[in-house]
Amino acid sequence: MGVPLDEVISGSFLAFLAPSNQPVLAACLQQLKPCKEELTITRPNGTTRAVQVSLAPMKREALEGFSVVVTDLTDRKAAEERLRMANERLGELVGELEHFSYTISHDMRAPLRAMKSFAAILQEDCAISSRQENRELLERIGTAASRMDKLISSSLDYARILSQNLRTEPVDLAVLIEGLIQTYPNLLPEKADIDLAPNLPVVRGSEAALTQCFSNLLGNAVKFVIPGRRPSVRVWGEPSGALMRIWIQDNGIGIAKDEQARIFDMFFRAARDCYEGTGMGLALARKVVTRLGGRIGVESEEGVGSRFWVELPPA
Ligand code: ADP
Repeated sequence: MGVPLDEVISGSFLAFLAPSNQPVLAACLQQLKPCKEELTITRPNGTTRAVQVSLAPMKREALEGFSVVVTDLTDRKAAEERLRMANERLGELVGELEHFSYTISHDMRAPLRAMKSFAAILQEDCAISSRQENRELLERIGTAASRMDKLISSSLDYARILSQNLRTEPVDLAVLIEGLIQTYPNLLPEKADIDLAPNLPVVRGSEAALTQCFSNLLGNAVKFVIPGRRPSVRVWGEPSGALMRIWIQDNGIGIAKDEQARIFDMFFRAARDCYEGTGMGLALARKVVTRLGGRIGVESEEGVGSRFWVELPPA
């Protein structure tokens, strides 16, 4: 209880209990009946402990009283809470994995079906069709196969983020994004103008996972641009409550209002026909950010451009 023994002996036991708990024991004491309750006691330093209090009436000659046994349950309660949270996380993970396997099996069957039907046409027409037609069909099969390959590898990246224990460390986003610009050919100055503000924050995250997240966001910013227009991207940071917000603004094709929430779903592609992609980049970015305790979103106007934002805890 954190109180010297002589003070316990001279004091009233009820005074240790939280006011809301006092009537329960007061009733037992008055009626001289045994009881066992889980209650909260407040220590003199203001901290509280979860305890089990067992009262047993005792009578020895003229002396009437109670034996009181107080068992500290705080550590057990904390362990139970940790277990409950782990179970909750496990339940969420199972749900996400079910959704994930359903979605990937659904979306991966599309290129597979294309390959099957082109191969069937090729088989039937082999004897009668020209070499040129056959070559085209084979090319289509090749395209569908490489699309499937990309879907599988981006799904594997996603599954890794879903199940991995992300170890966090301070990550300097200025250094990380500079590194990306020097690594990806489409982000180089010959291809795009990328302006990094000097106020990019150091955040708490996983360098590998944040590299995946920001490479997708920057890659999209220079990819979804009207053909012939030079990509121009601005990246800056600002505080947002307890988190740091990073903005990535582009001069691209923009996103229709009714599609802005769905672009973060697995395999969803708004600009499906004109631009290469798997539709997994933003799903992966969102998964990384939420697993690090942050948030992600977008503001966009069609034909004008998009502003994606990511919020992460500061280092
Ligand atoms: P992918 O780039 O492989 O198509 P993403 O998951 O990265 O998939 O993006 C999903 C969809 O969101 C894209 O297909 C595109 O329609 C839209 N999108 C993403 N980023 C941008 C952007 N910066 N400008 C316009 N549209 C975008």
